Amino acid sequence: MTNKDVAETLTRVGQLLEIRGENPFKARAYYAAARVVEQLGEDISKVVADGELGELPGFGEALTEKVTELVTTGHMSYMDEVMEGLPPGILSLLDIGGVGPKKIKLFYDELGIGTITQLEQAAKDGRLAELPGMGEKSQAAILESIRQYHSHQGRWLLSQALALGEKVLAAVEGVDGSIRASLAGSLRRRRETVGDIDILVSTRSGPKVVEAFTSLDGVERVLASGDTKGSAVFAPGIQVDLRVVEEASYAAAQHYFTGSVEHNVRMRREAIQRGWKLNEYGLFDGDRRLDAESEEELYKHFGMDLIPPELRENTGEVEAASAHRLPSLIEAEKIKGLVHIHTDWTDGKLALEQVAHEVKERGYTYFVLADHSRAVTVANGLDQERVRRQWKEAERVEKKLSGLRIFRSIEVDIKGDGTIDFPDELLAGFDCCIAAVHSGFASSKEKMTSRIIAGIENPYIDILAHPSGRLLLEREPYAVDMAAVLKACAENAVAVEINSHPLRLDLDWRYVRMAKEMGVEFVVSLDAHDEEDFGALDYGIWTARKGWLEKEDVLNCLSARDFAGWLAKRRPQSPK
Ligand SMILES: [Zn+2]
Ligand SMILES: [Zn+2]
Repeated sequence: MTNKDVAETLTRVGQLLEIRGENPFKARAYYAAARVVEQLGEDISKVVADGELGELPGFGEALTEKVTELVTTGHMSYMDEVMEGLPPGILSLLDIGGVGPKKIKLFYDELGIGTITQLEQAAKDGRLAELPGMGEKSQAAILESIRQYHSHQGRWLLSQALALGEKVLAAVEGVDGSIRASLAGSLRRRRETVGDIDILVSTRSGPKVVEAFTSLDGVERVLASGDTKGSAVFAPGIQVDLRVVEEASYAAAQHYFTGSVEHNVRMRREAIQRGWKLNEYGLFDGDRRLDAESEEELYKHFGMDLIPPELRENTGEVEAASAHRLPSLIEAEKIKGLVHIHTDWTDGKLALEQVAHEVKERGYTYFVLADHSRAVTVANGLDQERVRRQWKEAERVEKKLSGLRIFRSIEVDIKGDGTIDFPDELLAGFDCCIAAVHSGFASSKEKMTSRIIAGIENPYIDILAHPSGRLLLEREPYAVDMAAVLKACAENAVAVEINSHPLRLDLDWRYVRMAKEMGVEFVVSLDAHDEEDFGALDYGIWTARKGWLEKEDVLNCLSARDFAGWLAKRRPQSPK
């Protein structure tokens, strides 16, 4: 633990105290202590070891104790205390220029804003401007800061990039003379975040398509414009590169620009071993181009099956394609029921009956209700009494909408000590229990790992939700030994969630693959809080595909009856 780490923690505590609206002197004391540590001439751990911490200016008994704990264990339990009840990502709002603890307090108290995405939405909806002391101007300034934050980071959520990419792709396809066009790069491989957007087009009229591209609606800045390449920054700051190729090169170019680099290196080696050359212009035997109308035909020259773009990460897909053993990847159409749905009983926006209509209209035959339990007080978590009322309501809705089954479930909290915030007697009454961590994100890896495993070992827990707690581009995953967690899931037959929310995509696809090999079962869930979340299932499916999953690996591909059977088989009949 360096002096800088300690100073940062102290500063964070001060900021959190301000966000909580505590006495300003308290926060100032932490800021002052942070400065003292930062400017200290020697190593803080030595000062602690020598028992001299209390001699530093402003270090009273309480502060000395907290900093000693931090330096010796790497963790300050007071941090959990000041984070208690606040959304874990709230400090990321400080990364937005012009947003300090006081503004965060205002945004959180008035609008429940806890993430950058929520802040952006509130600014776009005009809700920020209506707050006391704000106004149109400050709202516009915050939107601009968020924009800068994104472009500074240089990365975008898959959902943000895909929305723009598909629009530009459609426009390029519509240009006179375009033959074929496709997304490429990490966007086509469905990476969870992307740096820029690659689009490929074959055409009979090179410069014309580039001209049309650089003058599209939404172009903020043209970076390059030539016969074979155009490059422009589109609102909200995403760079899009367009490559123009001859029709005869299209398949090879599509393969080349889709990547990944590692997959391409591997395929070039395969070509060299056969005495060929593979590049963006084609596959060549000497000067002769081997015909390939499509990527499928390109792979066929190598004796390989078509490798879906999601798998092109050089993690064994080349071997599998050569042996004709690629997985038959799951598709969104195979999902029969929606899992992890919040309603307005807690922090969801839709009433239970509206949810039921939404699910039915989309052609699913069941859903797994999952409002928050009482520990998540910010989300108006359910207590025993409200749970029973909600079951009654579910029964009423089920009767009204025949053919739709509602699984009585709940998203319970795995508390800091690994226990669940509902007693077993109550858990036993649910059809299904989903467990997750929503607090204490700063704890040590050992503590977090044993906490989650204890939750998994509770016999009433069926599904582990958002296992890493990450919010893409906003909050890093908490420190946890994921392999140990997944092993515990396999041993206890607890299914692991792949959360489809574009901000989460949690479990990460790299771990999905690992979990599958351990024999873990999955649900691809929505974590829906609002109507638009019901459209996000594809993101979870892509994550599952990147993790090599087939429909047999995913429990909500089962019919309602078989899903109920899976639950019944693994759940204890009565409380211990
Ligand atoms: Zn959750
Ligand atoms: Zn949830």
